[in-house]
Amino acid sequence: MKQTQNATKCKLRKEDTVKVIAGKEVGKTGRILKIDRVKGRLLVEGLNLVKKAIKPKKQNEKGGIKEIEAPISISNVMIMCKKCGITRIGYTFKNKKKTRICRKCGDEL
Ligand SMILES: [Zn+2]
Repeated sequence: MKQTQNATKCKLRKEDTVKVIAGKEVGKTGRILKIDRVKGRLLVEGLNLVKKAIKPKKQNEKGGIKEIEAPISISNVMIMCKKCGITRIGYTFKNKKKTRICRKCGDEL
């Protein structure tokens, strides 16, 4: 499988804990807030923050600089297993239901 195909075959889900394995936030972990499977990018809580100027929309609202999460490439993160750390996702069938498991220890992810 080519690296570029990973994006569309993404097994990650919202709320997954991932570790950044490349880029400026390498080594950090966080929870997935949003996944864009089409673009192959995701937002991770508290990671890859960028400063964004907020303009006040109402009269009593304050403008200013807000830090927001910028998208990270899906290929730059890996899922975290509570036992093993970064791992790959495997699948198994539990009660005829497809379940994601850690490929290292077999625990449900
Ligand atoms: Zn594991």
